[in-house]
Amino acid sequence: MKQIYMDHHATTPVDAEVLEAMMPALTTEFGNPSSNTHAYGHAARYMVDAARAQVARLIAATSPDEIIFTSGATEADNLALKGVVHAKEHMADRNMITLAIEHKAVLDTAVRLEKEHVEIRFARMDPYGVVDLDDLEKKIDKNTILISIQAANSEIGTLQPIRDIGVIAKKHNVPFHTDAVQALGRCEIDVVRDHIDLLSISAHKMYGPKGIGALYVRKGIKLVPIIDGGGHERQMRSGTLNVPGIVGLGKAAEIAKRDLARESVRLLKLRNRLQEGILRRIDHVGINGHPTKRLPNNLNVTFAYVEGESLILACREVALSSGSACTSASLQSSYVLKALKVPDFLAHCSLRFGLGKSNTQEHIDIVIDLLEKGVQRLREMSPLYDMAREGVDIDGVRWSHHHK
Ligand SMILES: *Cc1c(COP(=O)(O)O)cnc(C)c1O
Repeated sequence: MKQIYMDHHATTPVDAEVLEAMMPALTTEFGNPSSNTHAYGHAARYMVDAARAQVARLIAATSPDEIIFTSGATEADNLALKGVVHAKEHMADRNMITLAIEHKAVLDTAVRLEKEHVEIRFARMDPYGVVDLDDLEKKIDKNTILISIQAANSEIGTLQPIRDIGVIAKKHNVPFHTDAVQALGRCEIDVVRDHIDLLSISAHKMYGPKGIGALYVRKGIKLVPIIDGGGHERQMRSGTLNVPGIVGLGKAAEIAKRDLARESVRLLKLRNRLQEGILRRIDHVGINGHPTKRLPNNLNVTFAYVEGESLILACREVALSSGSACTSASLQSSYVLKALKVPDFLAHCSLRFGLGKSNTQEHIDIVIDLLEKGVQRLREMSPLYDMAREGVDIDGVRWSHHHK
């Protein structure tokens, strides 16, 4: 039997319409868009231009020229951060502001830049992961060269007040980058209205192919490239363009814009049904992330006294993730939950549900049943749960249990 897929924050399947749009670029229309001496090259250039316009429309960019195709959002995040920092090489004491719950593509890049003597400042957040705007503004000074704050978190789904951040950034004349990978196709984003200068996109998180993404670069923002070569993409990203990928990203962007209103409402209903079902049928559970300012397709739940990994095994019929896909290979608990001061013993009991197009109400009801049974069975084997039920104060017990 095929598993029910509920891990859409990790990746999404390629839409049939997207695949169909890509087929010519994978077969007959195989030209290099840089070849301007023949029809094969012209056809490829035409497809790339059309895709660039589709991506620009999704985020309401003023011009398609502001879209730079990359190998994905990891590269887009790297290009945004390193590109801006290296364009300000002449400044002695540079700093940038970000959040401790950013995707690793931003955090690890920031760590790399720290070695180049760029100070990394982390803005404060509330317990749900929403940035503290006063603290953000206080951390800006004359040496601040970039603010990088995600639109939505891939683990807990918390949405940031992007427009407010954009207003603050503009007021202080600091470029504002946002990793909008999780938000695109689920929330409306307008780079002009929201004062966004740089924005990272990944195709495979919105029903496009893997290995393709883009960075929106507002006109006038200076970037030093991280890949040198033939000067493609207005000198900002060399390398022969991934035409099939780009066509797929363009189509995915078009569909994301077209279906946004309907699909986000549908997902919200499903997510709420899942959340209400879990809260009604299972005790000792908690929701991570913001109760309302959250991606419509995200739910992150702590099931106390149950190891997340064990619960995933108990629910084999569902494809689920505990924490983020990148860190779940190691036994460390989620760095996002850790940054929000969720104790380790609770972070280990957390599951992430990422709903998507294929999910139905029937899936939700099956998953609630599986979770209820799974949690009950696992808790029957948990001495801590017995003690908790009997009202014994088990905080110390839990700590020693989880630290042995
Ligand atoms: C998946 C993801 C990325 C990385 O995107 P790739 O295209 O896989 O490199 C970056 N940021 C966020 C928020 C993501 O969810």
